[in-house]
Amino acid sequence: MKHYDEHTWGLYINELLSPNEISEMEHHLYRCDECLDRYMICMEQMTMILPVLETDERTFADAVLTRTLGTKRSWYHSTILHYGIAAAATLILVATGFFHGLSQELGPRGALQPAPPPEMKIEQPISDQLLNKTLTWLDTLQNK
Ligand SMILES: [Zn+2]
Repeated sequence: MKHYDEHTWGLYINELLSPNEISEMEHHLYRCDECLDRYMICMEQMTMILPVLETDERTFADAVLTRTLGTKRSWYHSTILHYGIAAAATLILVATGFFHGLSQELGPRGALQPAPPPEMKIEQPISDQLLNKTLTWLDTLQNK
């Protein structure tokens, strides 16, 4: 079993190691009484030598933690907000697409049965109307 010396435990207490090393040492601490003793001695030494720094560090760590958690929380909330906006936009797009598709589907069917315009007389065929219009146009052209 690999053991850690006082110096390493000092680094561990002051959190001067990588998160992997810290968790590794933490697990070792649960299984090894020898290292636990060293760790306790280190802790005692640390609190005796640097009591002010210890509290300062703790306060600082707490402040950082609170700030980080606060940032994370606000980030989380804004993510939820952005997700909500995105979801709403997607729903609108889907709805628009759906209605667009629906209107396209109804379009040709509506064109097949057009409502007759009010000025158009049903008894008079369209060919006659076109002929009359053409003749009227020719008349006006000749009169000019
Ligand atoms: Zn050990």
